Amino acid sequence: MTVVAIVCVECGTRHPATEERLECQRCRGGLSLEFDFDGLDTRALRRRWSERPSGVWRYRELLPDLALDPVTMLEGGTSLLAVPRVAERARLKRVWLKVEGENPTGSFKDRGMTVGITRARALGQRRAVCASTGNTAASMAAYAARGGIEAVIIVPSGGVARGKLAQAVAHGARLVSLRGSFDDAMRIVSDGASKIGAYVLNSINPYRIEGQKTAALEVWEQLGGAFPDWVVCPSGNGGNLAAYWKGFSELLRVGADGPAPRLASVQAEGASPIARAILENSELRPVERPETIASAIRIGNPVNGRRTVRAVRQSGGTAGIVTDLEIGEAQRFLASREGIFVEPSSAASVAGLWKLAGRGTFAAGDTIVCVATGHGLKDPEGPAARFVPPQDTEPTVDAVLAALGSRPS
Ligand SMILES: *Cc1c(COP(=O)(O)O)cnc(C)c1O
Ligand SMILES: [Zn+2]
Repeated sequence: MTVVAIVCVECGTRHPATEERLECQRCRGGLSLEFDFDGLDTRALRRRWSERPSGVWRYRELLPDLALDPVTMLEGGTSLLAVPRVAERARLKRVWLKVEGENPTGSFKDRGMTVGITRARALGQRRAVCASTGNTAASMAAYAARGGIEAVIIVPSGGVARGKLAQAVAHGARLVSLRGSFDDAMRIVSDGASKIGAYVLNSINPYRIEGQKTAALEVWEQLGGAFPDWVVCPSGNGGNLAAYWKGFSELLRVGADGPAPRLASVQAEGASPIARAILENSELRPVERPETIASAIRIGNPVNGRRTVRAVRQSGGTAGIVTDLEIGEAQRFLASREGIFVEPSSAASVAGLWKLAGRGTFAAGDTIVCVATGHGLKDPEGPAARFVPPQDTEPTVDAVLAALGSRPS
C-alpha cells in the first residue's frame, strides 16, 4: 500500500510521504503513516491473507510498499493460546494469550524490525541505532545482521537482562553502555542520531509501528474474523498498544464489524506514567527514577506515552498498576500452571488482568486477549534466584529415589 502522508499524532499536521522524519515539523509530536484504503474490504482481504503463510508480510495490503524484498525471518504468526487456569482464577471464561515469545528473537519487537530494517535498506542506510532496555537491541541486532547493516545499541548500564545482551553481542552489534537510564539513552538517540550517522529504530520510527500493528490483524483473524472485547497489554514506551490500536482502527476502516476492542494498559507500580494518566484522567507526567523487576517496561518518560493514553481513552479502555510481587506471581503461575514461560514484563499483562477482574472491569463472558510480549529465557534471573541447587546424588536408582523422598508403592 502506498503511503499518502505522514501525520502528526498530536496536532494532525500532514507531511509529504517522501519526507524522512521522526517528529512533527510543527510540534515535535510522534508521526504515523496514513494510507488510502479505498477499494479494500475485509472479506476479500481475509480470503487473500488465508492463502499466504502466516506472519507480518501476509498483511502486505495494509503495510507500506518498500520497493524491496523484505529483510525477514518469517516473524509474526504467533499462537493465540487459551489459558483456562488464568481465566478461572479471574472468574472469566475466555482468556487468550498472544505468545509473542515465539518470534525469531523472542519478542514482539521483531514484527516492527522486519519493516524498519527493510526501510533502512530501501533508504540506503548503512548504520542503525536504537536505545533499548534489551529486546529492541536483540531484535535490531539480528535484523541488521541479516540485512547487512551495522547495529549501534545504547543501553542503560545494569538495566538490561543478560539473555538480551548476549543476543545483541552474538549478532555483532556495537554496544554503548550508558551511565544513565533508558530515558537518557533515548534522549541521546533523538538528539544525536544524525551525528552518529544512523537510522533510528526506536518505536518513534513510524515504520516500526506498521510491523507491530500486524499483531492486531492476526488476533482478529485467529478469532475467526472478530475482535476480542478486550486487549490487555504491558506498556513501556507505549508503542505496542498504539500499534494494536492502529491495526484495529484500520480493520474497521476496511469494513470489519465493530466495535473495536477496549484496551487496557498495564504498568509496574514503580514505572507507571501511562497508567496513572489514564486512571487519574490527567496529563502524562514522567517518572524520574523508574523502578521494577520488569526491565522491558522500566521507562519513566515513554516516547509513545500520550499516543497510548489517547488510544486507550478512545477505545473506552482502562489501565492497571501492578506490583513486582504480583508480576512474579503471575510469571510463576503461567509457567507452572499453563506451561508458558514469559519474561516479567509479559507476566505484567496477566497480573493486570487479575487486578482489573478484581475491580469488576470485565463481564464474565468477555473475550480477552493478554499480550505475552517476550520469552522467559531472556531474563531468567528471577526464577533462577528461587532455585536452590539440590545436593548431588550418587548415580544409582536407589539414591535418586532417596533424593526424591519417595518410593513407588
Ligand atoms: C518492548 C517491550 C515491552 C514494552 O513495549 P512498548 O511498546 O515499549 O510499550 C513490553 N514487554 C516486552 C517483553 C518488551 O520487549
Ligand atoms: Zn504536530
